[in-house]
Amino acid sequence: VRKVVCLGELLIDFVPESNGQALADVPAFRRAAGGAPANVAAAVAKLGGASRFIGKVGADPFGAHLRATLEEAGVDAAVIETDEARTGLAFVSLREDGERDFLFYRHPAADMLLRSDEVLGAWLEDAAVYHFGSVSLIAEPCRTATLDAARRARELGALVSYDPNVRLPLWEHAEQARTEILEHIAIADIVKVSEEEIEFLLGLGLVEGARKLLQMGAKVAVVTLGPDGCRVLTTSSDIHISGVSVDAVDTTGAGDAFVGGFLYQLAQRGVSAGTLVDAVSDLVVCTEIFGFANRVGAITTTRRGAIPALPTLAEVEAR
Ligand code: ATP
Repeated sequence: VRKVVCLGELLIDFVPESNGQALADVPAFRRAAGGAPANVAAAVAKLGGASRFIGKVGADPFGAHLRATLEEAGVDAAVIETDEARTGLAFVSLREDGERDFLFYRHPAADMLLRSDEVLGAWLEDAAVYHFGSVSLIAEPCRTATLDAARRARELGALVSYDPNVRLPLWEHAEQARTEILEHIAIADIVKVSEEEIEFLLGLGLVEGARKLLQMGAKVAVVTLGPDGCRVLTTSSDIHISGVSVDAVDTTGAGDAFVGGFLYQLAQRGVSAGTLVDAVSDLVVCTEIFGFANRVGAITTTRRGAIPALPTLAEVEAR
């Protein structure tokens, strides 16, 4: 079976047991497996699809927990252990106004030390899709590992998917984030962004920004709209797929679940780089693929956490 192969950061998020406090005032945290590409791999596996996650953790108990979490979700965990750094940690708090505070422990974190020569050819050969984000593009050597794997996956016939997932506190400054995140749009067949990310990256509105991403070399731009669903643009189409109404309790991981939902669909349907634009510019097919992804994202918001909140195929089909 050809897999959805995700590469990048794998870390422990420490999330507050109660909301509404600044990070300095949070008395207790609960551990939650995190890292956007790892969440995407878990989402695909939870739906019953074949997925692999490639990354690096420290030879420590948190690394062991992360591997176990992925394996329990059904992900083929191509997780390398290192003695050179500890597993990455992030402390998160949710303030009264809904804004998130982050404190990252990455000086460096093990995931940043993934090297290109460690990414085995066999981990990419059976890829239907290769998915990456921007956190693994911030520092070497994992930056080169991420990009080399994208090129190899593409040569091997995989679709390439990119979620820029802007995490500003991890970059030295905003301009560096903007330039380097945009530099790799062209390597991707399909790019997923939020409206806020379009505004930050390009200083443009949704449609102009999405068109710009297509000009920069992406074949498909997917813009997430929270409860309003998403909009899928190619050079010849622009389709809005309405969201589903749910009582959201925690939106953590909704974006990753949504990506997992559409990558699962693309892989199941055997969509390739050559057939992608035709598939998603067809109203019926596009609505099936991204309506499914909207439901996966929506269900994820009704439960706490990222990986624990992911739905099964039966749950998505029941909605
Ligand atoms: P991130 O998780 O990084 O914030 P994002 O901004 O792309 O990513 P959202 O737009 O919040 O993520 O959510 C992704 C998808 O999940 C949406 O496109 C939608 O399909 C679904 N979704 C998110 N929030 C809701 C909600 N409140 N009600 C219904 N569906 C939602």
